Amino acid sequence: MNSVQVSVVIPVYNEEAVLPALFDRLYPALDALDRSYEVIFVNDGSRDRSAALLRKQFDKRPDVTRVVLFSGNFGQHMAILAGFERARGECLVTLDADLQNPPEEIGRLLAAMDEGHDYVGSIRRQRQDTAFRHWASKAMNLLRERITRIKMTDQGCMLRAYGRNVVNAINACRESNTYIPALAYTFADRPTEIVVEHEARAAGESKYSLYKLIRLNFDLVTGFSVLPLQLFSLFGIAISLLAFAFVAVLAVRRVLVGPEVEGVFTLFGIAFFLIGIALIGIGLLGEYVGRIYEQVRQRPRYMVQAVLEGDQVARTSHAATDSAEHPGSHVPPPLQ
Ligand code: UDP
Ligand code: MG
Repeated sequence: MNSVQVSVVIPVYNEEAVLPALFDRLYPALDALDRSYEVIFVNDGSRDRSAALLRKQFDKRPDVTRVVLFSGNFGQHMAILAGFERARGECLVTLDADLQNPPEEIGRLLAAMDEGHDYVGSIRRQRQDTAFRHWASKAMNLLRERITRIKMTDQGCMLRAYGRNVVNAINACRESNTYIPALAYTFADRPTEIVVEHEARAAGESKYSLYKLIRLNFDLVTGFSVLPLQLFSLFGIAISLLAFAFVAVLAVRRVLVGPEVEGVFTLFGIAFFLIGIALIGIGLLGEYVGRIYEQVRQRPRYMVQAVLEGDQVARTSHAATDSAEHPGSHVPPPLQ
């Protein structure tokens, strides 16, 4: 397997509006780097013309372009993992397709890698997103910092570079729910961060609904820490002790003062409070148990429909334990 210096991995989901502009900026930026490179696009089951546009781009630059086509929507991080498993680069760079991460910044990430770092994170100089996203992500950053050992100033930016050692470790993981920048950080020997530019989405709209964002953040928190569970049991113990003392006081009063009707509502209040806590706890347990369930099933994490790449045919079986290929999967002939 002939390796290249840099592999750029880009997940694509319904990005037909922005892909032409991405191609126009990405390839010149990479050509200017004067390093051998490959771009791996992973189409995450787009329902628009993204796959066709990627095929066209593959025909245009088959020497440096590879395309993995998923047969459904498996999520941004699964798409990146599929790219990681196929990448031949000594160094990998991830990038969003929507041009929020300027491709011209890749050179600066690589310069930091040249200094001997094996993971280069990024901090968005001026984030170009809605105010809600801005504050929500600030809050999540803070929470993550408290409960995990992962040190990232800005966890949300996907413009990052990973060394081969880190990528191999990520590929060895069999996690079904994961957050790649955080996972990479846990494997990195000499991580660093640089400040990068951030632009507003060039076209199209965000693929993350509020629900998907919440799911992603749950992956981040529960994937890297069991502290929520532990905190919960500590809290549960404290509450039970208090409740026990309270019941004891009530029992004494029952003997000394006799039956009291007043205070029933206080009791209700306390009962509801405890029920609320119990429900949160069950939900939290569910999050972890759900992940265990997904993990033990060992289902393929994603399904590849086809792979377009230059010098060989459907060299995809090496990831067979991880991704399932369609029985008749083959590399389709380039479109004319
Ligand atoms: N994406 C994906 N699968 C998904 C959702 C998103 O591959 O299910 C890709 C999307 O095409 C883009 C990147 O992940 O390249 C980031 O998505 P987006 O820009 O919509 O997220 P935001 O910038 O709003 O956080
Ligand atoms: Mg975006």
